Amino acid sequence: SSTPASDEILVAGGGIGGIATALALGRAGRAVRVLERAAELGEIGYGLQLGPNAYRILVELGIADKLKEVAFYPNNLVMIDAIDGKELTRIELGDAFQERYGYPYSVIHRSDLHQMLLDAARALPGVSIETSRGVASFTQDATGVDVVCEDGSQYRGAALIGADGLKSRVRASILNDGAPRVAGQVAYRGVVPIEEIEDATHADDVVMWVGPDLHLVQYRLRGGKVMNNVAVVENEAMRTGRAETIGPEEMEAIFSHCIPSVQKMLGFVRKDRHWVLQDRDPTPGWSLGRATLLGDAAHPTLQYLAQGACMAMEDAVVLARKVTTTPDVDAALVAYENERYLRTGRIQLSSRFFCGFCHAGGGARDVRNSIVTKRPKGSTFEIDWVYRGIDL
Ligand code: FAD
Repeated sequence: SSTPASDEILVAGGGIGGIATALALGRAGRAVRVLERAAELGEIGYGLQLGPNAYRILVELGIADKLKEVAFYPNNLVMIDAIDGKELTRIELGDAFQERYGYPYSVIHRSDLHQMLLDAARALPGVSIETSRGVASFTQDATGVDVVCEDGSQYRGAALIGADGLKSRVRASILNDGAPRVAGQVAYRGVVPIEEIEDATHADDVVMWVGPDLHLVQYRLRGGKVMNNVAVVENEAMRTGRAETIGPEEMEAIFSHCIPSVQKMLGFVRKDRHWVLQDRDPTPGWSLGRATLLGDAAHPTLQYLAQGACMAMEDAVVLARKVTTTPDVDAALVAYENERYLRTGRIQLSSRFFCGFCHAGGGARDVRNSIVTKRPKGSTFEIDWVYRGIDL
């Protein structure tokens, strides 16, 4: 094409990854246009845990003060055996933790985080965000990228960042590697007023109740006013692909071996919506000329380390750095991928491992319990590589 290239960087997808990218690039003085498929911007689901590595990114993006107003700061990450109610281990999130990593561990409502990113991005003169613009296809030449949207609208930019999530169209064009892997597990989520929590022992912690083929995570949101609940289950039918999900009765059956208080917590999750959990193997090659991938489009992960959105935000900051320090767009996108590939791949694989660890039954449960109960209480050494974050 002989059309002069626009300097604008196009971003497919306005989720946490896409909006963080617009903000990071916009702060670096670049013109950015986000093309979001949905008619309205916003997040579905409830809570997000943010490790100190992500807090640091939000400081870098200039929104840490806003975060302070809406986040909740739990005291501990606690793992409890859901079958006998015994605490297995914990990571203390107090002063020693904050000194070690430089930043706190926080939890936040997804829509609060998305809104904070959006407000900050929209305040920048070079950032445009458009809705009802699903990216259908793109082509590229030596000077730019041409994007065609599902409604026929067309855009030309200097680069295309595919932040279009788990079922990314941009990924299909770059890697053509089919659908993500269905993990054989399903998540149900819900929030309840904090008054409904009868036993307040762990009301100020992030608690993970673990049992055979199941776990349930709880933490407070919205200044502590509500309790966020995520229940995840798996069974043979889902593992072998015969079923994508299961109904409330089957879920109750899987939880029936848990202590009564945990069984009761199943009542806190909504049954009208579920998330079929999916991920991918680490896959290099997300950058192709002037196009690249970011967040779940690049490295979808199971949620066991609570790092998917954290990785998407780290991606955004690294991408903006590379684009502003490397004059050649192709080289900048390759440098970005090289810096992100192994770290995000390790998150993907470690999350799968941790999944097996949490859902262990029979002898595997005995082995798990003997290992984790021996770890020094409160220690964080296994997770240092995640929480220490990236070089900025
Ligand atoms: P998405 O949020 O999927 O955003 C993609 C956007 O692109 C969407 O807005 C979509 O509408 C749009 N889109 C799709 N196709 C197109 C197209 N063709 N053109 C234009 N737009 C398009 N992460 C954490 O860090 N901490 C946690 O505690 C945590 N808990 C989780 C719990 C559960 C149960 C699950 C399922 C996930 C959890 N995650 C967590 C992971 C986190 O939710 C994701 O990693 C993160 O939201 C990914 O953001 P993203 O912007 O890359 O993708």
